[in-house]
Amino acid sequence: MTARPMYSIVAPVFNEAGNLQRFYQEVKAALDGIGESWELLLVNDGSTDGSQELMLQLAEKDSRLRVISFARNFGHQIAVTAGVDYARGRAVILIDADLQDPPAVMPRLIAKWKEGYDVVYAVRAERRGESFWKRFSAKIFYRLIHRITDIDIPVDTGDFRLMDERVAAVLRQMREHHRFVRGMTSWVGYKQTGVEYVREQRVWGETKYPLRKMIAFALDAVTSFSFFPLQIMIYMSLILAIASLLVGLVISSLRLAMGEEFFGGQATTIILLLLLSSFQLFFLFVIGQYVARTYDESRDRPLYVVASTFGLSEAQVANQRTSVASNVEPVKDNFVERETVEVAGHGV
Ligand code: UDP
Ligand code: MG
Repeated sequence: MTARPMYSIVAPVFNEAGNLQRFYQEVKAALDGIGESWELLLVNDGSTDGSQELMLQLAEKDSRLRVISFARNFGHQIAVTAGVDYARGRAVILIDADLQDPPAVMPRLIAKWKEGYDVVYAVRAERRGESFWKRFSAKIFYRLIHRITDIDIPVDTGDFRLMDERVAAVLRQMREHHRFVRGMTSWVGYKQTGVEYVREQRVWGETKYPLRKMIAFALDAVTSFSFFPLQIMIYMSLILAIASLLVGLVISSLRLAMGEEFFGGQATTIILLLLLSSFQLFFLFVIGQYVARTYDESRDRPLYVVASTFGLSEAQVANQRTSVASNVEPVKDNFVERETVEVAGHGV
């Protein structure tokens, strides 16, 4: 393997066949302009549309490309994580492969990094070509997360960002399964800043984030960085207790004044019962979300399974806990502990 590249570009790919060629061209154009070394890590997250063949074709021609192919679809956040795990650059840039994050913005992220920032995130000043519903739900989502989480996650930023190698080193130590990568990079700290850009329309294909996945993603984001949903239960219980006292007082005085018949009947009881049961079930769901995640973490399964790699050194592949590479020598003893990186001031 050659010397470490200056920049590692990490792009998750899930059925992006129609975008890959142009994506590669634009990344190349943006980075070659800077005149420093780079590598492009394409993480194939179980594509079924010929993306794999296309990536290999590109990588055959350009030795700066690396392809990491998962054994199945593990999801966007996990794909990004794998890219960071294998990245060797002094700075790592996360970018979508569908050209919604324009590669031409990368030099601006790099410029900020050179000014001394450790994380430079790209802020969506405008979103083009997305449905009203997507824009609306995203707006609410980012503001909610910002309000209820304990760390400062900037609003309207996706995963499109640059991070210094020391931030990437900390991320590699964070092996949680339900990942909210943008929150995790905020959590690390150091000097962070934003750069505004216009989020473009998807060039080809459709979004891989249907409503179901967006809800799951939002739940991961909230539970990863906040106990707020658990804490509001105490307020709810206080409100209900006070309400029941007041209602009790009112009803008993009315009955004393107007006789036994007043407020009799099952209808009120049934309505109240259903209302309170629905509250309780809702909060059981909330607790369940945290419990299920705790269970997931305690199983400590590997985050992803690599089926094959291309363009990576054997040492790199061997260093990963979970990989079985097909085009390099199969690695037998591949459950090597990751080297731990000490980071001053951050308890992990
Ligand atoms: N992606 C992935 N695995 C998935 C879903 C998406 O690797 O399960 C990739 C996808 O190929 C793209 C990026 O993650 O490069 C962002 O996905 P998408 O564009 O569908 O999300 P959106 O921009 O609509 O939020
Ligand atoms: Mg997209």
